[in-house]
Amino acid sequence: MYRKTWMEIDLDAIASNVRTIKEYTGKKFIAVLKADAYGCGDTQVARTVLEAGADMIAVSSLDEAMMLRNEGCTKELLILGATDPEDCETLIKNNISVTAYSTKWVKGITSRRSSGLRVHLKVETGMNRIGFKDIEELKKAKGLLMLRGCSLDGIFTHFAKADSDPEMTQKQYERFAEAVRAMDYPFRWVHCDNSDASLSFRDPLSNACRVGISMYGISAYRDDLKPALALYTKIFMVKTLEAGEPIGYGSTYVTSGKEIIATAPIGYADGFTRANQGRFVLVNGLKAEVVGRVCMDQVMLKLPEMVPGGALTEIFGPHIRLEQMAAELDTIPYEIMCLISGRVTRIYVKNGKPYEESNERMSKSLVSGS
Ligand SMILES: *Cc1c(COP(=O)(O)O)cnc(C)c1O
Repeated sequence: MYRKTWMEIDLDAIASNVRTIKEYTGKKFIAVLKADAYGCGDTQVARTVLEAGADMIAVSSLDEAMMLRNEGCTKELLILGATDPEDCETLIKNNISVTAYSTKWVKGITSRRSSGLRVHLKVETGMNRIGFKDIEELKKAKGLLMLRGCSLDGIFTHFAKADSDPEMTQKQYERFAEAVRAMDYPFRWVHCDNSDASLSFRDPLSNACRVGISMYGISAYRDDLKPALALYTKIFMVKTLEAGEPIGYGSTYVTSGKEIIATAPIGYADGFTRANQGRFVLVNGLKAEVVGRVCMDQVMLKLPEMVPGGALTEIFGPHIRLEQMAAELDTIPYEIMCLISGRVTRIYVKNGKPYEESNERMSKSLVSGS
């Protein structure tokens, strides 16, 4: 790492959170590692959660599943999103489980050589995203898949308002339970609880939870999970300006008196969006306002007092919770995490110490002539 802008990912905290949630639910643990483990690096997070006792890994697409397989991950892998029936052979060859979500998909897959394909049936109960709403249709799909030699490994649904509406969650749960009963089949995996449901909703039906965000210590329902993430940068220039000096593109901020202005190497190309203008970050522990427009690679901060060059700047972390930053930006922690771009170095902490530094863009070696 040359540029001092990095995300710290505490693997000890992630492992501890997996153990805590697994123990609390008393169920098998499906670790949802879609979108490169919410931007945290699926290879490193996968290794950590498997060591901590995760029983399966879920991703969003065949691309993501293959990335993990190519990294040597041999664990049971489930694709939660849609797959193309054309990729049936690749799925079977790599022992990747898929979601059956519509009659059209089931017809597509069973018109190919699908024997041995591992399938989880997706029941539509209130998201209206993907899944079978009609139980008769679901029964037919199950019959057809079995007839063609597919392995019916699981059945699942997904809650729309587990963070805010227990009544709606209960209704969805009942619809799901009805579908599971109607299938009358010994599924190895029955799952419906995302992070919020796992920590707030008791369900005797499912035998696995399906957890993403709470592995990083984020939950409205528990305060004993450990925050695992922090985003830092370092000031590289500090100056004192007189009144009337414009700052940044569009001169949207003008100093109103003598002001100390610092510049730090983080911008919207790192996922630090322009909406951060006017918010506060911490420089050497001091609150500093983001003044002027956030640039692509840099940002200007107004300091209450002089700090040395190289002062540590916390964007989020131990003092500014990611949840707080998300609320201030009118979004959710998931989105902020996923927006942190590949340009930002990831530093993994294990046994309390930095143990691996990773920047996939820095390690690419495909430029010809090199
Ligand atoms: C993303 C996702 C999850 C994980 O949700 P969290 O809120 O991060 O726990 C679980 N199930 C499905 C189907 C998902 O798409």
